[in-house]
Amino acid sequence: MAIQEHVPTQLESLAAQPIGSGDELAGRFPLTVNPNPASQAEYDAVMNDLTFGCQFTDHMAHMRWIKGEGWTDRGVIPYGPLDLTPGAAVLHYSQSVFEGIKAYRHDDGSIWTFRPTFNAARINHSARRLALPEMDREDFVASLVDYVRADSKWVPEGDGTSLYLRPFMFASEAFVGVHAAQVVDYYVIGSPSGPYFKSGLTGVPIWVVKGYHRAGPGGTGAAKAGGNYAASLMPQEVAAEKGFSQVCFLDTYEEKYLEELGGMNMFVVMADGTIRTPELSGVILEGGTRSAICRMLREQGTEVREEKIALDELVAGIRSGAVSEIFACGTAAVITPITRLANDDFDVELPVGEKTKAIHAELTGIQMGHHPDPYNWLYRLA
Ligand SMILES: *Cc1c(COP(=O)(O)O)cnc(C)c1O
Repeated sequence: MAIQEHVPTQLESLAAQPIGSGDELAGRFPLTVNPNPASQAEYDAVMNDLTFGCQFTDHMAHMRWIKGEGWTDRGVIPYGPLDLTPGAAVLHYSQSVFEGIKAYRHDDGSIWTFRPTFNAARINHSARRLALPEMDREDFVASLVDYVRADSKWVPEGDGTSLYLRPFMFASEAFVGVHAAQVVDYYVIGSPSGPYFKSGLTGVPIWVVKGYHRAGPGGTGAAKAGGNYAASLMPQEVAAEKGFSQVCFLDTYEEKYLEELGGMNMFVVMADGTIRTPELSGVILEGGTRSAICRMLREQGTEVREEKIALDELVAGIRSGAVSEIFACGTAAVITPITRLANDDFDVELPVGEKTKAIHAELTGIQMGHHPDPYNWLYRLA
């Protein structure tokens, strides 16, 4: 089969531009050591029972943007509650964007992350849409380097584990009138995380929701904005009551085509070996995991089609056997097999497929340093 060229998106092109090494960028965010770090017992309790997203480390990176001055006050400071006025604009108008990226400990003890320049390009893309300031992409990566170097002991060891990094920024000025932010705070916090699926890859049931959308044309769907998640939670709760772990959203005009889950992109594996994923319509979020999978598969000679995927046709394909696997993907869970798809009109099941398992093994193999990294996706933090 002819190798299909992977044409880079704008975020991918930006991500491909080189940046300084971790050693070169280190020190932009000077460290103020936490005088009251976690005790040995607290540290052991966290690291011996890794969960996801509820325990944080001793420090956080921070910088502040002030209109007319730019980004100032860079530092890695003790983790702790924020001093935020109740008048802070974000609490009223939700000007807030974020990123999700992981730090992985390799067998030799070194600490790496995956395509941080993609996330740097994306936080700027998200910020632009919410009238928040953009940042120097080397500052973004430096904030990860300095934070992870300060809290390197919190990066767990072992397959499937990581320090989940959460960079985020929001409008912090005291002003309940409406205008673009004039004071913005940016932070990076981190949470030691275990494998999302403790007993290997298990599938999840997904409810295909009608009547509710996480975003719409011209809105903020392509920005990684907290508000999109807020819009997804109520339909998510309704689906949870029916026993489904997440919802799949459909396009806003016709409710006919697949978009994505609340926080993960989707792929469909056809029995003929081709792979399909909803095209970047401006409403779905361009995932780094999605992008990595598209490129990897294409370079291996698999045909990947980014196109509209009609729900009707998908359900018919699952019934006929033309569709063999469906999975979701994102940084947090990497790959999540979808083993049941339902709504009021249908209810179909799928296996955890071999292709899904192979993609998972390949991607996590690169991230953990067990496979070669032909695309130079890994970046050494420490
Ligand atoms: C973060 C996110 C994804 C996945 O993006 P990754 O870069 O792969 O982690 C997908 N959809 C939405 C809505 C997201 O917020």
